[in-house]
This record gives sequence, C-alpha cells and structure tokens, in this order.
Amino acid sequence: MPLSPTEYAWLSAREIAAGVDEQRFSAEEVAKAAIERAKALDPKLNVFNEILPDQALAQARATDAAVAAGRPVGPLAGVPVAIKDNLCLKDVRTTCSSKILENYIPPYTATAVARLLSAGATILGKTNLDEFAMGSSTENSAFKTTRNPWDTERVPGGSSGGSAVAVAAGIAPLSLGSDTGGSIRQPAALCGIAGLKPTYGRVSRYGLVAYASSLDQIGPFARDAADAALLTSVIAGHDPQDATSSAQPVPAGLADLKAPASLKGIRLGVPKEYFIAGTDAEVEAAVKAAIGQLKELGAETVEISLPHTQYAVAVYYLVATAEASSNLARFDGVHYGHRTKEKSSMVEMYARSRAEGFGEEVKRRIMLGTYALSSGYYDAYYLKAQKVRALIKQDFDQAFTKVDAVVCPTSPTAAFKIGEKADDPLSMYLSDIFTISVNLAALPGLSIPCGFTGAKLPIGLQLIGKPFDEAGLLGIAAAYETKSAHHRAHPAL
Ligand code: GLN
Repeated sequence: MPLSPTEYAWLSAREIAAGVDEQRFSAEEVAKAAIERAKALDPKLNVFNEILPDQALAQARATDAAVAAGRPVGPLAGVPVAIKDNLCLKDVRTTCSSKILENYIPPYTATAVARLLSAGATILGKTNLDEFAMGSSTENSAFKTTRNPWDTERVPGGSSGGSAVAVAAGIAPLSLGSDTGGSIRQPAALCGIAGLKPTYGRVSRYGLVAYASSLDQIGPFARDAADAALLTSVIAGHDPQDATSSAQPVPAGLADLKAPASLKGIRLGVPKEYFIAGTDAEVEAAVKAAIGQLKELGAETVEISLPHTQYAVAVYYLVATAEASSNLARFDGVHYGHRTKEKSSMVEMYARSRAEGFGEEVKRRIMLGTYALSSGYYDAYYLKAQKVRALIKQDFDQAFTKVDAVVCPTSPTAAFKIGEKADDPLSMYLSDIFTISVNLAALPGLSIPCGFTGAKLPIGLQLIGKPFDEAGLLGIAAAYETKSAHHRAHPAL
C-alpha cells in the first residue's frame, strides 16, 4: 500500500528517514505523497512560489537506488524539505518574492541546500516570503499572500511565512527559513511549530540572498525539537565559501537529540523588559504557564534585566536598512534583475529598472538605509546605532553570567488579520520587538509552541541561548515537550 498524503502528513523527519532506510516505504512514495499534499493545499494557503515535482522525484529515486544498493544514505534520506525562495538552488528560479528577480536562475546552490541534498533530502519547492525577507506577515511578497493554516483569514507571520506554513500544514516535516530580525521565530510562533535562528556564523550563508549581512542567519522549521535539532546538525558547520561562518564544532548529540530527564541545574532568566504593556494577555498567560512547567521540570527561574531592550527596534531599523541599501544596490537591471523596457539614458535605465522591480516596503527601506548612511547623518544614525547595538549585546553577556538561557514570548500577539497592519509599517515593525535583540547580539533563539488563544491561534515561547548553545536550547524544548502536547496539535485543513 503506498503511503497516502494523509498518512504522510504528520510523520516526523526521523520517522521518514528511518522508514526509507529500512525500506518500509520508499523515498519515491514519500515524495509523491508530499507533492500531492502540496498541490492540494497550495491553492488555499499560497505556500509555494514553485513546487518542484520533477526534481523532487529524481532526488527521491536516487535515494531509493542508494538504499537498494546498500550504499549509506544520509540522516535525511527521503525527507521532503521546503526551502525559502531566497536560497539558491542551481537552475531553479530564486525570486525572493520580488519582481526584480522574477526570472533569476542561479548557477549555483546554497551551501545549506547542498548539505540537505547530500544528507539525502528531497527538495519539495521554493516557498513564499516577504519581498527580500522584509516584513513580518508575508504580505510584502510581490506574488501572493500566504495564509495561516489555523485561520486562513490571518497572516502566517513573516518573512519566512511559506516555509512555516509548509511545516505547520503537514506538507513537509522540515523547511528552511532565514531570520534577520525574527523571520523564522515569529512565523514559527504564529503557526504553532518550532523555529530556530542559530547563532550568527553557525550556518553558512553562501547562496542566501543577503538582506542585512551582519544579522542574517539560515535556520530550520520543524514540528518538534528533535527534528529541528536533526536539521540543524545537517546545515551547521564551517564553510570556506562564507567568511563569516564559524569553525566552532557542531555537538555530536544534535543529530539524535534526546529529552533530558529533568532540567535540574538549569537557570532560566526571565527578563522584566519582555513582560510589558502591549503584549496580549492570552500570550502572556500562556508564556507564564510554560515557564511554570519548565520549573516543574526542575529549572530554576531568575528575574533578570536587559535594560537596553527599548532601543532594539530603532537600532535594528537603522542597521538592517543601512545594510540592505548596500546589499540591494546590485539589483539594477545590469548586474542582476529586471531591466526596464522604456527607452532611456543609462542613469534613467538604472532608476526605472529599480522603480519597476522593487515593491513599496523594499523601496522604503533602501531610502531609510541610504539616508542613515549618508555623509552628515552617518555619525548620528548608523554609528550611534552600532554603539547601542554593543550595549544590547552587553546586556545579554551580563545575563549569561547568571543564567543558562532566557525565556520570554516570541511575539507580542498571535496571528493578526491579513491587511490589519499592511498600511501601518510602524505597528508591523513592533511585532518583532522580542526577536530583534537576538539578531543584534548574534545569539541563538528558538520559538516553540506553548499554547493557544481562545480563538485557537498558536502562541510561541522563545528561548534565547549563549553563543553556539543551540543544543542547550533544543534540549530544554525537548524536555518541555514531554510535559506539553501543543507541538502535537494540528490545524484542521
Ligand atoms: N520583520 C523584520 C523585518 O521586516 C525581520 C525580517 C527578517 O528577519 N528577515 O526586517
């Protein structure tokens, strides 16, 4: 009996890889079920910019051939993985959900994606995002608005909305996103799944289209901590192609994460600046209940202060836009991207190509960033922001002399309505208030599901760790999962 799309939907990556390896089902059957489910749900949820059935089947058949020949297969043998459409896959369009890159076909594959393929994974498709990863709702895509599977009138969060929904809707057990200010953790929270932003440098960014280079990181979405750890173990590690990637060894235990029996000896910091007016009461209650459960597991909680938190959003929108204005300069219709059809002088051609190709939010950020970097304003804005960034990092350094990890909400609210914040960039920017500092301080951050609102919308708990302590965060999450069923709840589709 071939695996049906419904039997497939909620299998973990570990179950799929074991099943393929032990020949209980084939990678091809898994890929077919995944493709069928993707095609059935995509019209309703707008998850993908492109589904890749032919490539996925070819990769799956190659995995089956290796299993049949008794050759060793990787830890993701036959596991369908969806990837955010700002990650390059050779010969497949990589659009960043932007008109300017609508027809861009990269001649190379991102390191993180290449590692998925060597681990035996099947790449199911390229997922929708906010244009160039700028946004918190996936509404800034030039092509479509991804919908939250728990309530299709609501946003999935962003910018990695498509990747989050692929996992939350049972289309793929795993996906990759990128996180510059919260783009993995916030959609994970709003969709009720796990999402990890690894430490800056943990995962190579070779082949990730850059947004803000001092903040961007690639990371996993999964439905439980062990699957998130498995995917992290595959993509993490030094890469000579990315000068910012770290040589810090990846702990061996990550590939086979086990829940610790208790959290005795673990000290968790609860930052008072993250429990403030403006956070939804249901979110705060669920997060506090989860902290209570972590205590029951043996953890000790300590109230801490991260005094510069209030400046994080302002600092981020200076640093990120400044870096974006520089990174996006290459999309000019000559080096890369759409070129205007209008006859014009060379200078006009550049300007028109960019005016036609970029969406409103991207233009807003390029202008903000260019302004912040301009001579005369550089010291007042960009330089000042970098100084405050150092203070934000120092807050965490001090906290980590007393605690092993920090716990707080991931997002101040559950999923909001499509259109609700679309015309109000400032209120949209504020939805990243709890995630942004983690990028500014280059730390790992994990969001896991910790409850639901009365309207059955998922709520996320954020765990922030010491540099390169992804394994510690995932271990706490795995322990929490032994006490909680939220990660096993699925949307009715
Ligand atoms: N929402 C934030 C922004 O719009 C973060 C985006 C991200 O992490 N890529 O910049």
